[in-house]
Amino acid sequence: MLVRGLIYLGLLFGAYISIKTIARKVVDSQNSGHAVGKSDDIMVKDPSCNVYFPKREGIHLRDHDGQDLYFCSEECKNKFIENS
Ligand SMILES: [Zn+2]
Repeated sequence: MLVRGLIYLGLLFGAYISIKTIARKVVDSQNSGHAVGKSDDIMVKDPSCNVYFPKREGIHLRDHDGQDLYFCSEECKNKFIENS
């Protein structure tokens, strides 16, 4: 009887752990879905030095065509403006 009780407890504990894991996954997916400005994490290329970096860390410039450009530094931005 004791062994059966232990197995039952083990199964219960296993179920508890898997429910907890699933619940956490659901919460995680909800959190990432609600994440503000997730598109800010995309990588963009600096047109001046051709280096890739996260968009949110870039220095923004709107060029003559109304196109959004991002630079890794003010220096690169200024260089690009000078050359254009
Ligand atoms: Zn650069």
